[in-house]
Amino acid sequence: MIAIERLSKRYGETAAVADVSLEIAEGESLAIVGSSGSGKSTLLKTINRLVEPSAGRVVVDGEDVSTVAPHLLRRRIGYVMQGAGLFPHRTAFENISTTPRLLRWEEPRIRARVDELLTLLGLDPATYGPRKPHELSGGEQQRVGVARALAAEPRVLLMDEPFGALDPAVRAKAQVDLAALRKRLGLTIVLVTHDMDEAARLGDRIAVMHRGRLLQQGTPAEIFSRP
Ligand code: ADP
Ligand code: ADP
Repeated sequence: MIAIERLSKRYGETAAVADVSLEIAEGESLAIVGSSGSGKSTLLKTINRLVEPSAGRVVVDGEDVSTVAPHLLRRRIGYVMQGAGLFPHRTAFENISTTPRLLRWEEPRIRARVDELLTLLGLDPATYGPRKPHELSGGEQQRVGVARALAAEPRVLLMDEPFGALDPAVRAKAQVDLAALRKRLGLTIVLVTHDMDEAARLGDRIAVMHRGRLLQQGTPAEIFSRP
């Protein structure tokens, strides 16, 4: 589904990502872990062209993403920013309808889709649709962020530390709910986290980054059994 091929990204003298190759199968969930500054976010953002690589390429569904228009990628690849990243002055409804509007969907289709997503994520549309981010709890904001990412029915979901700002109980519930959502929608997920427990819980495989390089990859059992 996703092939990252010998990918490098430099910022001046900094090699943010250095010669990384990775494959993610359809329906698989990959957790990218590593310390702060190891290149996790940069690698993730090359998948939907938020970052353009210095060398190498990313292939999604057989297509080199550098040849696909960004608005088409946005439809195929949902992206949840760090801490949900909602537009603060827009309601949950408006946040979730961002990509459908860019894609010029008709209003009734947008309404139906937003209601469907809010319901899917356990938020009553009539109650939560009109609320602005500051009227939502951290966990609710995170759900709206996921709904926004899924609005245009992508098959791939990218998440950058999605649960980082949540307290432990809410975080645990969010993790369980994400796993269920993934099964239900058959999503392929690439997730960045610095939390090893979260990686083991949510990743079918884990990729460990260190100073821009891919140090190792494997199932949670393989990663944690190594010294
Ligand atoms: P992580 O997500 O693992 O914390 P990042 O991918 O954000 O790491 O960053 C990797 C390295 O690249 C860091 O040294 C960071 O300072 C640098 N970097 C990331 N984005 C930029 C940017 N837009 N401009 C310059 N340097 C950057
Ligand atoms: P980070 O939390 O990793 O620092 P930023 O907040 O800098 O990320 O956001 C990265 C970029 O993503 C911004 O330029 C923003 O405009 C863009 N962006 C916002 N929403 C979406 C979306 N749904 N799809 C793609 N790009 C988006």
